[in-house]
Amino acid sequence: MRIDKLLANIGYGSRKEVKSLLKSGAVKVDGVPVKDAKQHVNPDEQEVTVYNEEVVYREFIYLMLHKPQGLISATEDVSQPTVVDLLEPEDAVFEPFPVGRLDKDTEGLLLLTNDGKLSHQLLSPKKHVPKTYLAHINSEVTEEDVEAFKNGVTLDDGYVTKPGVLEIIESGETSVIHLTITEGKFHQVKRMFESVGKKVVYLKRLSMGELKLDEELDLGQYRELTDEEVALLK
Ligand code: URA
Repeated sequence: MRIDKLLANIGYGSRKEVKSLLKSGAVKVDGVPVKDAKQHVNPDEQEVTVYNEEVVYREFIYLMLHKPQGLISATEDVSQPTVVDLLEPEDAVFEPFPVGRLDKDTEGLLLLTNDGKLSHQLLSPKKHVPKTYLAHINSEVTEEDVEAFKNGVTLDDGYVTKPGVLEIIESGETSVIHLTITEGKFHQVKRMFESVGKKVVYLKRLSMGELKLDEELDLGQYRELTDEEVALLK
């Protein structure tokens, strides 16, 4: 990999800024100053230092965001703020993108990464990765709904969903439920409830596969996944 790309990837500024850092002689590879931005290095085998501090290279970043309402799950948008706007520059430099989408008014666990392969695996319909949501519903949720979701419900476009596991936490004028589904159709949770004549008034994703939202994170906060958490996803 080119030395300028490596340094830019891990947050030493734009390629232009990295170029002047290199020119200054601050960057060394195996103890030898490197000024040529085009020079190739192997970060697994060679030691790269900046101002004599060792640089730990990594290609991928994995972030867990507690998504707040009001942001769209995209990397950019012409008129609306996106989840990527919440990232610090040293994380944004890795160009992470959201793994799948939460609606603008949905809160909860959103994974951001630049690992396209992992993202693809998690989103692949063949993998059936379960996602669990907490929702508030505008009316009573019943055992009939539990049964209907278990058998699959027909959405407004005629699609019959795969079985979903509906758990009633509180049933009443406003009900609280957990729903686990293994698909990710557009507005799926909201549309599943619409199919039984009910409305989701609040939605939060709690988990994706084995990865659970860290409740220590306030809305809008994020952190890197631990190595153990990354392993859970693979
Ligand atoms: N289902 C929905 O309806 N909305 C989401 O954001 C996620 C799942």
